[in-house]
Formats: sequence, structure tokens, C-alpha cells
Amino acid sequence: MNHPILKTTIVGSLPKPAWLAAPKQLWAPWLLEGEALAEGMQDAVRLVLRDQEQAGIDIVGDGEQTRRHFVTTLIENLEGVDFQHKKTVRIRNRYDADVPMVTGPVARPRSIFGEHARFLRAETDRPVKFTLPGPMTMVDTLYDGYYRSREKLAREFAKILNAEARELEALGIDVIQFDEPAFNVFMDEVRDWGVETLEAAAAGLKCKTAVHICYGYGIKANNDWKKTLGSEWRQYESTFPLLAKSKIDQVSLECANSRVPLELIGLLKGKDIMVGAIDVASEQVETPEQVAQTVRAALKYVAPEKLYPCTNCGMVPLPRAVAQGKLKALAAGAALVRGELGSS
Ligand SMILES: [Zn+2]
Repeated sequence: MNHPILKTTIVGSLPKPAWLAAPKQLWAPWLLEGEALAEGMQDAVRLVLRDQEQAGIDIVGDGEQTRRHFVTTLIENLEGVDFQHKKTVRIRNRYDADVPMVTGPVARPRSIFGEHARFLRAETDRPVKFTLPGPMTMVDTLYDGYYRSREKLAREFAKILNAEARELEALGIDVIQFDEPAFNVFMDEVRDWGVETLEAAAAGLKCKTAVHICYGYGIKANNDWKKTLGSEWRQYESTFPLLAKSKIDQVSLECANSRVPLELIGLLKGKDIMVGAIDVASEQVETPEQVAQTVRAALKYVAPEKLYPCTNCGMVPLPRAVAQGKLKALAAGAALVRGELGSS
């Protein structure tokens, strides 16, 4: 399958099988260890690949089956971060979490996801995407007792991410996506150093680069926060013009059941747009027609070859059957619109 327009993809995470980690939880501990865990992760990656392929998703990923959390699993592999003595911090001004502490210069002593990326590439013929956290979101998930500057720490993380991303690219990854939910919260920092550190993380990459900016997983703290944002969510309005000028190829935004005015897509002239057409905060599976409506609405602002129907965010907290249903709805909804446009 190689659709010329409306190629579908997912933001990143998918639910894990119940034998690998407890369902419907973020940071769920592994239920296996040692070699059994390594083998279990690979089996889980095979399962989510088959789910995506059978649903008809064009650009597939590992569903983050090898990570407990989209940020901390990467940080665990760095030097300069103490995981034994955790500190409580407020994440994205929204909820408290016990997080590791930066105690010295951060460094990446070895490849972090190389093995996983090699496995993913070997297990499917479709184009593959790999996700990494963005520098600002990494900074926001830590207590910094060393640099004492969010900007300085972000610049260090950008160098580390760039080294990792170059390795992933060399292993045949087609799209490298940086997750920056913090871009919807710290607008001044996005302008002052956020986009610059994001570009530094992606510097020199020849594969497609993407940034995912969202309103978070469908957990209570995020859902409560969204209620405070008013009738129109215009956070993207200040960020998109900066990203339009950047070298990042693709930008994702939440569209399904969100209050984001879709005309904001117009601020991203020239970019590929990942249109969130699946609501990850609801266990109700969309109909293909609902997905199609979101895609049609977005088509007013972006050409079909630059529009990638996608999920709003990761689906890890959802029941597995719901996520599988949503994958099918996403692919079927995109197919409906392709049919209307005379493309198969
Ligand atoms: Zn997200």
C-alpha cells in the first residue's frame, strides 16, 4: 500500500498487551524481566505492527511498546541524571510527579533505541516512524539541580537527541518525530529557545522530521486543564508561525473533538500537517464518517498530498480493543475521502 495522498499515521503510543504491562496506566511497570522482558517487548512490537498493517495505516511505528514512558525511558539511559533520589515537580503547570534529578553534565554514553529501531525496521515493509521526546518536554519532566537553567539543559538534550536521531536515520527510519506537548504551555520559551533547540535536535537529518504538539493524553489532569482554556484553543497560533519558518517537515495538531480553530493550519504554509482525527480522550470509537469529516474540514487549509490523517495523541491509556477500533476507523475514514477525491 502506498497512497499518494492522505497517508495515515499515528502519533506514537499504543496500549501494551496485558502480559507486558498493566493496561490503562501511564508509567505502568513491566510485568516481565530480563530476557523474558526483551522478548516480550519484541512480541508486543510485532502485534502492534500487525494491528496497524491490518487496519491499513500507511506509516507505522512500534507503538512505544519498549518504553514505560515516552520521556523517562530515554532519560534513564543518560549519564548525569539520578533516578534514586526523585523530586516532586509540577509537569506542564498541571500535575505533580516524582521525577529524576539532574546532578551533573548530561551525556549519552551509548545508543538508546538503536536495537529497537533495527528490530522495527526489519519487521515491516511499510515506512516507519520513530518518536523521541523534544528538548523542552524533557526539561519539563526533570528536576534540574545542576544547570539550573531550562534553556541550557535543553541545549544539552538537543545534542543528545541529535546523536540518537542520526543513528535512527542510519538504521532506515523514515520519519523521526519529536514530541513537544510543552510547546502548548510555555509559549515565551518556545519563542526564545524552544524552536531553536528543536531544530538543533533535528539538525542534519535527511529523513522526514516531525513535531507533535498536543493537549496531552486523555487523563484527568489534562481533561481538567482543557476545560480552563475557553471556547477556542489558540495556543498553536503563536507557535505555528515559528515552526513554519523552521526546518521541521511535519507538524501535528489536535483536531478531533478539540476547540482548535482549523484555520490555524494556514499558519503552517509549506509544511506537512498531521491532522488529529482520532480523539484519544474518549473510549468511543469514531466512525469512518466522523474521521472523514475532520479530514474534509482540514482540507480547506492544506493540500491532500500534505495532509496526514493521524491520532490526536498517544493511545497508551486506552483499552486495547478501543485503540484497535480507532486505528481501523482512521484508515477507513481516510479511504472515504480519498474515494471522494478520485484517488485510491
Ligand atoms: Zn501528545
